[in-house]
Amino acid sequence: MRRFEAPWGTAEVYAAEPVPPELRTLARDLAPLGPRFRPALLRFRIGEGRRAPYAAVWPPDRPVPRLTGGGPLTAGEARDLVFAEVQRLTCRVCGTTVRGVYPGGALGGGDRAASAHRPVDGCAACGSSFAASRVQALAVLPPAASGP
Ligand SMILES: [Zn+2]
Repeated sequence: MRRFEAPWGTAEVYAAEPVPPELRTLARDLAPLGPRFRPALLRFRIGEGRRAPYAAVWPPDRPVPRLTGGGPLTAGEARDLVFAEVQRLTCRVCGTTVRGVYPGGALGGGDRAASAHRPVDGCAACGSSFAASRVQALAVLPPAASGP
């Protein structure tokens, strides 16, 4: 785990080592997406230190830093890093719902970071564009496996 310090608070970004209990579901959801998508526990300065699970997402064409040991992430390692939530996204054209990794506005690196990522635009089910479907995500999760 390595820490990331931001104006809004702190994030603990986990590699593959055991994660805290509140990150287990998220870690399982993110596993198929590969090393760019890591579970992170955010602690906000406001809201009495509220903690929340987020996905730490690196841009596709940037090496993901080593996340075991080491000090806080450096500015270079965290460049264009964004924090995102797993949310249900419903296509406004065909009504298909998918689970996507959706960037939390204020927690991303702003427009510059957003442009470094290549979001999935539009609905894979009906082919509608983002403008029509309003479906956009950093990645779409495969359907949840059944069972425990
Ligand atoms: Zn659709």
